[in-house]
Amino acid sequence: MKIVDIQCFPLRTDLSRAIGFSQWYYHAKNNFVLKVVCDDGTVGWGECYGPNLAIAASVEHHFQPLLIGKDPLQNEVLWNFMWCAYCDFNRYGIFMAAISGIDIALWDIKGKALNTPVRVLLGGSSEPLPCYATGMYYRDDKPEAEMLAELLDEAATYVDAGYTFLKVKVGKNLEFDKELIAQFRKRFPESKIAADSNHAYNYKEAISIGKVLEANDYCWFEEPLSPENYADMARLRKVLSVPIAAGECEQTRYGFERFASARSLDIFQPDIAYCGGITEFQKINALASAAHADVVPHCWGLKINQAAAASAISMVPENPGRFERRQVFLEVDQTEHPIRDTIFSTAHDVIDGKLHFNDLPGLGVIIDESAMEPFVIDPKVKD
Ligand SMILES: [Mg+2]
Repeated sequence: MKIVDIQCFPLRTDLSRAIGFSQWYYHAKNNFVLKVVCDDGTVGWGECYGPNLAIAASVEHHFQPLLIGKDPLQNEVLWNFMWCAYCDFNRYGIFMAAISGIDIALWDIKGKALNTPVRVLLGGSSEPLPCYATGMYYRDDKPEAEMLAELLDEAATYVDAGYTFLKVKVGKNLEFDKELIAQFRKRFPESKIAADSNHAYNYKEAISIGKVLEANDYCWFEEPLSPENYADMARLRKVLSVPIAAGECEQTRYGFERFASARSLDIFQPDIAYCGGITEFQKINALASAAHADVVPHCWGLKINQAAAASAISMVPENPGRFERRQVFLEVDQTEHPIRDTIFSTAHDVIDGKLHFNDLPGLGVIIDESAMEPFVIDPKVKD
């Protein structure tokens, strides 16, 4: 079996209404999908998290030429081959995002070649996965009080749909954030809730918000500080009882090793479409285990990454574990996304707040390429 082609699909769709978080407002969704084609006709689908045209350039000009003619089943060998070929440049950023998507596609191919789901190749469980609803993004067309009321109503639709776990955005301003945290707890006393600031706070602000999260029994405090601030995250972890989570901006076992050695995190959150793919995720998972931390992958894109994250979660260990298991929840983004909602003819179903695995070989997703075609962007258009 040999790789004969890698095709890139940078995708874009405008949103009907902008959604915001602590750093900016999204007016469009951009995603990147790639297809690895083999000489026997087998194809594997991969997804990368990051700026799509830059990733497309790195795949087309750098990794695709390296991989033509290689055996796709040797994902470990090929990961190291790609790593070494551009080691000076791919330690962080776009190149590692590209490697991530290629690696995901190689796992899809391996599963198809062996007629086995990726979840089974990883040794995971077939139990349905509980999911948490990510949403409650800011709206720039309303005053804060009205917006908060709308966000609470938005969350109620997820609870009605069967979700028992919500993730809200914080990091707008301290006053609003504290009000939002309290209002969500008041409205949803039975729900698990986590808060994500997307690295909005300095250390003192994070302590102040963290105490409100503790008082309202939140499940975790995500990206409280700058992704570079390993030391202060470790300090924060010592002074707050709310678990500290981060990692969606981090890549490779070497990046996560800094979190591990500083004991910065209770929860590692690698994004499989960015951290180095499924192959590298396994190393990060082992590192987190040795650091006595949980692993809850970040997952904010299309259903390829969702299938990879679900397959990975199906096998992550508890640290340390007990008879009555603590459940790991899969992130399911609820925001408007016409690409995600139209290009897959088959994927794992999310019903009543749980992902149910299908038994298809590979990742278990099938893309309708004619449905994807309208979203493919011209490389000359600004990303
Ligand atoms: Mg996040």
